[in-house]
Amino acid sequence: MQAVDLIRKKRDGGALDAAELRAFVDGACDGTWPDYQVAALLMAIAIRGMTTDETAALTEAMVSSGTRLARRDRSRPRADKHSTGGVGDKTSLVVAPLAAACGLVVPMMSGRALVHTGGTLDKLEAIPGFRTALDPEACERVLAEAGCAIFGQTDTIAPADRRLYALRDVTATVDSVPLIAASIMSKKLAEDLDALVLDVKVGRGAFMKTEREARALAALLVDIGARHGVGTTAVLSAMDAPLGRAVGNALEVAEGIEALQGRGPADVERLAVELTAEMIVLAGVEPGHDAAVRRARRALETGAAFERFRTMVAAQGGDVRAVDDPSRLPSAPGRDPIAAARAGVVARVDAEAIGRASMALGAGRSQAGQAIDPAVGVRVLARPGATVERGQPLAELHHRDGVGLDTARALAASAFVIGDQAPDPGALVLGHVRAAPAAS
Ligand code: URA
Repeated sequence: MQAVDLIRKKRDGGALDAAELRAFVDGACDGTWPDYQVAALLMAIAIRGMTTDETAALTEAMVSSGTRLARRDRSRPRADKHSTGGVGDKTSLVVAPLAAACGLVVPMMSGRALVHTGGTLDKLEAIPGFRTALDPEACERVLAEAGCAIFGQTDTIAPADRRLYALRDVTATVDSVPLIAASIMSKKLAEDLDALVLDVKVGRGAFMKTEREARALAALLVDIGARHGVGTTAVLSAMDAPLGRAVGNALEVAEGIEALQGRGPADVERLAVELTAEMIVLAGVEPGHDAAVRRARRALETGAAFERFRTMVAAQGGDVRAVDDPSRLPSAPGRDPIAAARAGVVARVDAEAIGRASMALGAGRSQAGQAIDPAVGVRVLARPGATVERGQPLAELHHRDGVGLDTARALAASAFVIGDQAPDPGALVLGHVRAAPAAS
């Protein structure tokens, strides 16, 4: 099967069968397909799309590119959550230990920064010593100790996603519904889960800009989960403005720690509790949403979730002193404020522009494999609805020796729209997509 024939077939709008998709995934993993052919087929998929059957077959081929985790502990349900990607979205850092403190086992295979959105692995690697490369054995050991583990794809677990993810990031092929679905589900299906909650982001800072697109992606994700016997629910959540105030790796870890200590921004805490409650109900630990929310809130208030986070960080080689005292996290030497051009009320903070500003400072990648700077990023000081005076700082850019500062300054300044009236705050959770009950 020649790569060029599969590229032509998809370019011309054809559907690839399971054997062809497996040839693509195998070729991408073993290097027999060079980057330019892998990228060409990714672009053809991004433009032409895929049927649900093709997406399910691509997902299956990607899962089969590696081994699955073998669960040891069958006494507790195994559940996970995954986000389709947002700006300032540090909920994974809160949800994994929170769900573990509520009685679930959470093997969370995560990704790196993609385009303007952050990646959980990059964030955690801001903690000195933290290892995100865990083999299946090490992963099960961390799960036994902490109840949660956050780690990346390896040569053995979901290797295809690692390879495709890096190429998609730099070839404008990220915001494709089938590619996002296969990427996420190939990681999640390798985890041997009972329950999966997907946070499908909608809005200016998300890959899905409209609720219609987000619902289509959510339905596809839920369908693939159901085909594999994993109870799957998608939560649609707003991503017009950054979540919380911190954007950038170490900055977000510090804010995640604040949320675990019950003093984080309200939106971060609310979303983390909602997502955890969905996991708790789906996994059968509590019968209903309200009881699950109470359980999650208790685990935050008692410090049980924070303790799980500490244990996980230690078990993955991280320096717990940086968790107890986030001033030990990497910190950028330069600070540059973005001042309000007029007095008024902040009507909008464009999440994508803030994400791009953070990326320009070095928190993300413009080329596959590029090193990132864990310390840099953006702190949003004025959120939608805030009343500001002319000249008041709206955001603070954390930079290293001015790297990317001019670009970041222009992007961050363009993110803020100041008007005369307070904007409609809008809902954080926009809806749910659940699997249809199985026909009897
Ligand atoms: N998260 C993933 O794991 N993959 C994507 O493609 C997008 C978000």
